[in-house]
Amino acid sequence: MTKRDYYEILGVAKGASEAEIKKAYRQMAIKYHPDKNPGNKEAEDRFKEAAEAYEVLSDQEKRRKYDQFGHAGMGNQGGYGGGGMNMDDIFSQFGDIFGDGSPFEGFFGGGGGRGGRRSNVGTNIRVRVKLNILEIAKGVSKKIKYNRLTLADGVKFKTCSTCSGNGQVRRVTNTFLGQMATASVCPSCGGSGKIIESKPGHVDNNGLVSKEDLVEINIPSGVAEGMQLSVSGKGNVGPGGGPSGDLIVLIEEVEDEHLKRDGNNVIYEHFISFPDAAMGTNIEVPTVDGKVKVRIDAGTQAGKILRLKGKGLPSVNGYGRGDQLVQINVWTPKKISSEEKAILEKLGKSENFHPKPSSSDKGFFEKMREFFHH
Ligand SMILES: [Zn+2]
Repeated sequence: MTKRDYYEILGVAKGASEAEIKKAYRQMAIKYHPDKNPGNKEAEDRFKEAAEAYEVLSDQEKRRKYDQFGHAGMGNQGGYGGGGMNMDDIFSQFGDIFGDGSPFEGFFGGGGGRGGRRSNVGTNIRVRVKLNILEIAKGVSKKIKYNRLTLADGVKFKTCSTCSGNGQVRRVTNTFLGQMATASVCPSCGGSGKIIESKPGHVDNNGLVSKEDLVEINIPSGVAEGMQLSVSGKGNVGPGGGPSGDLIVLIEEVEDEHLKRDGNNVIYEHFISFPDAAMGTNIEVPTVDGKVKVRIDAGTQAGKILRLKGKGLPSVNGYGRGDQLVQINVWTPKKISSEEKAILEKLGKSENFHPKPSSSDKGFFEKMREFFHH
């Protein structure tokens, strides 16, 4: 079955405003509501189809994708695949289009399990953690000290009288579709079923106080600036002792003076003297694994890049490791004595000191291309 165009389903123009889309959907929802069309499979399909169209067109981001790519742009979001949109999804929209609580609630199979999400979940807390390149290379365990809202000692609760402790309120109302049962999260207790009876003076109206907490988290190797780790349930406790939000840990990189990061590779610049470049030498370079000895061949040109395979950073998903690239620079003296000048003048006359680049003495860009797109 080919999917119909969402605008066509709701009977609105492509450029329709949010208000027009909402209005069109409201009319569809009423017209095709299964309660008004008992046993009518086609009406039920229309009802679901309209809900799906509204779900996409009422969301700016989804609508933009749909406008650009059609149904193919929806992927797994929106669209609801071939399985159709489930009734809970449809009802979750109704709070939006019909105001608080849904007049349709309770129509489909009991509805006892519904009633919306708990509204007393605590908020997330965000903290930043600074890591140096060695910590990123090895992974590190960090203790994080922070303040979070927690349920204060001495807070006493009683059963919520509005919902009798079940967290939902149900009421029967007369609506344009006849008499209906409405269920929604209890506005008094936010779904917890209990409310604060008494609390000490320094405690806020939600029964919470700010307390210092300490969390130890293991940061895997290979993380990068801007990545986030979340520690479930370590955010603020919800109002009245509701479920806690999360602690979100944002990774910040402290740049190393010598070892520069490029993805999982590490770039290091090393200067050698002109005599060492001509005669060859052994150097020691720092890596994330400690110092490594590197041989510099006689006749090394300035700009040469040496690759230390596997001496870079591990990838965060655990597959493989980058390299360290050592760029060799040759130090040209900025001042010389008259004695040194005499020697250099003599050397400069030697045929060996005249530049004769061969094809193996590649230029800078050639080398960069070769080493970075290896
Ligand atoms: Zn309640």
